[in-house]
Amino acid sequence: MKPAPFAYQKARSLDEAIALLSEKDAKLLAGGQSLIATLNMRLSSPALLIDINGISGLDAIALKNGSVEIGALARHVQVERSEVVAKQAPLIARAMPHIGHPAIRNRGTLGGSIAFADPAAELPACLLALDGEIEATGPKGKRSIKAQDFFKGLFETALAPQEVLTGVRLPAATKNTRTGFAELARRHGDYAMVGLAASARADGKRLSDVRLAYFGVGNTPARAKKAEAALADGSIDAAVEALDLDPHDDVQATAKVKKHLAGVLLRRVAVQLTEARQ
Ligand code: FAD
Repeated sequence: MKPAPFAYQKARSLDEAIALLSEKDAKLLAGGQSLIATLNMRLSSPALLIDINGISGLDAIALKNGSVEIGALARHVQVERSEVVAKQAPLIARAMPHIGHPAIRNRGTLGGSIAFADPAAELPACLLALDGEIEATGPKGKRSIKAQDFFKGLFETALAPQEVLTGVRLPAATKNTRTGFAELARRHGDYAMVGLAASARADGKRLSDVRLAYFGVGNTPARAKKAEAALADGSIDAAVEALDLDPHDDVQATAKVKKHLAGVLLRRVAVQLTEARQ
């Protein structure tokens, strides 16, 4: 199918993009990997597309004051190949190769993925597992939103209509940081049937601050807090038994199958969390 007619404008600055967003029914165009498909399927028909690809400085990746900062326009491939990300945010590095295929990672952006908030996407769950923050910039300036407060519902976020997601901030890994990542998809590169992103702190042989963030199990990424507590108590079996998730049926699998797969992933990720620093 072809999209409904729309106007197109390339923003030269963040201020210009924010000003244009106040025009009726406008959408930002980043990598276009999700937006163009929704336009072609006529799931969305904005009057104006605001291309933000020409805004300079929004694709930087840097370590600053103990945090990894990644700009919204960083392409997936750039994040995947970043040494800063590999060393300081190993969970993100583990997740990147699971996002679509190389052609999609060449164009798709980190900001687009988080703003789109697909419940089966990897990056929103990684942000939740890492207790990351999302930076939004709008007519009143910048604000930070905790990942746990950002994903509000199915494809719904805390971004206001005139705000641009400008970047994310993640705590940099320390020598005690442990991360784990696994997903089950029908084919590598497909959206996951179920996936799990996790982080923890190693205290000797024990784990603390365990954060298990599942994706593909509901309308938003979801933490399994009872399973986190059981894992911190040292029992993988008890964590699987305690798994507090309430998945929905979807086109990929039934809720019952998803719950079973979530347990399988928990066992795999628990082993990764107890391995020496990655
Ligand atoms: P766009 O498509 O340009 O925009 C997506 C939405 O976000 C639009 O509503 C747009 O207005 C909004 N938006 C974009 N940038 C911003 C911003 N900075 N601030 C506010 N709003 C913004 N993703 C996965 O996570 N896992 C997968 O396995 C996966 N598989 C894929 C397979 C295929 C075949 C395809 C086509 C895509 C797949 N994707 C997958 C999606 C891909 O990761 C996209 O890159 C991502 O969802 C959107 O990023 P984008 O830069 O292309 O955003």
